[in-house]
Amino acid sequence: MSTPETARVRVRMAPSPTGPLHIGTARTSLYNYLFARHVGGTYVLRVEDTDVARGTPEWERDIIDNLHWLGISWDEGPQVAGGEDIGPHAPYRQSQRMELYAGEAARLLESGHAYHCWCTHEELEAVRREQERNHEPPRYNGRCLRLTDADRASFAAEGRKVAIRFRVPAETIRFDDLIRGEVEFDNSLLGDFVVVRGDGMPLYHFVVVVDDQAMAITHVVRGEDHLSNTPKHIALLRALGYREPRFGHIPLILNPDRSKMSKRKEQTAITAYREQGYLPEAMVNFLAFLGWSPGTEEEIFSIGELAERFEIGDVHKAGAVFDKDRLDYLNGVYIRALTDAQLALRLRPYLPAILDDRSLLRLAPLLKERLVRLADATELAAFLTESDAQVGAMYEADLLVPKGRSAAETAPALSIARDTLAGVTEPDFASEELESLCRAAADAHGWKAGDFFRPIRVAVTGRTVSPPLFGSMELLGRERTLARIELALARLSA
Ligand code: GLU
Repeated sequence: MSTPETARVRVRMAPSPTGPLHIGTARTSLYNYLFARHVGGTYVLRVEDTDVARGTPEWERDIIDNLHWLGISWDEGPQVAGGEDIGPHAPYRQSQRMELYAGEAARLLESGHAYHCWCTHEELEAVRREQERNHEPPRYNGRCLRLTDADRASFAAEGRKVAIRFRVPAETIRFDDLIRGEVEFDNSLLGDFVVVRGDGMPLYHFVVVVDDQAMAITHVVRGEDHLSNTPKHIALLRALGYREPRFGHIPLILNPDRSKMSKRKEQTAITAYREQGYLPEAMVNFLAFLGWSPGTEEEIFSIGELAERFEIGDVHKAGAVFDKDRLDYLNGVYIRALTDAQLALRLRPYLPAILDDRSLLRLAPLLKERLVRLADATELAAFLTESDAQVGAMYEADLLVPKGRSAAETAPALSIARDTLAGVTEPDFASEELESLCRAAADAHGWKAGDFFRPIRVAVTGRTVSPPLFGSMELLGRERTLARIELALARLSA
């Protein structure tokens, strides 16, 4: 849906490389992507790396790699971490745009919208404590607005560093939020804030406004945690004579108890989900629904289908609850939709290297129904590469015994199973054949199939939970299967 109006849409994501790609940043990035693609606009990645104390190239790599992993692409900015910037507004890293900020800060000073501030950290702290004692809101007291030339000269002589402080006009700021509708803030409560630190470092509120203008951003879509920053940004951009972009604030992501999803407590790094084997397609589908829905009952969408449906105005105002069960459910759906060959390929990192491609391809259909995450395959398939002795050491003899039976009853049942399996020669040692023979043996012995299979499963895999039993035996092969059952029989009679 591209009209002359929407084709000019330019949106951006502006991550700070101060930590791994966070769930919330991933969702903001996805919403910007879907919005841009839906209207045929342009998507910009800008790296907000002015926080040199906390930012690292490793975090930048984590963010960019994981955005790619999710299938999110952008039109301008660095395409790979540390790589060359693509696009007419390069550079797209704030650390390389310092000249621009210095020029704009000078303009603010010249026009009287900003002033030099000589206050030391200790002085500012003292003011803050005083205000706290008087139950006043903490804000700059405006001292450096009223300095004489003599004051300034003496501060300079002391060698004080000079910051640049924005003079916030006392006015009410209104804007029509793309998601929240009419929003109103009283900026007279704000207090003047620093835009360039004493060491010359320009700060977030300032550089974000300068860059959004310089990069011709038309829509600023970001997390609701930035809502209270927007009136500051609007005041600044007006002082600089910029055109005002539209703003949209995406609801917070909440824990199931509706508390704010914190960075520390919950698992919030996309990398962690990736490592556990959540599929990027499932993750994207899940993130898209954290605060938006297409208004139908359908729930499985590719990123392209999401872009077709996504309307920024349909994003919810209320907080979005992070429902891990839903993510698990979606992941299972996506795993089961893979072909065996696709699943085998994706399982590779989670399985021992000694399993060859053929084994992986045979294993994939056995695991498919049982996997929530790809990493579950590690444990489910471990019996294949463990030695017979290792598997034997996994369990106590009791585990072989089905509920309501004794060890003395289980031993003969398991030896019937052993004889049954031993009667099948190697080329016929295949899942269907084994299953029908074992079911018949259970019947003949007067045992329920489930009870009869229990000691076989524990003997062969060392566990009560395994991939389908007969497929597992087929994969393991006749010889090792029988050896493990012998071992279990010995344990039962000991
Ligand atoms: N660097 C900011 C952040 O990571 C960007 C905020 C914005 O989108 O304006 O939160």
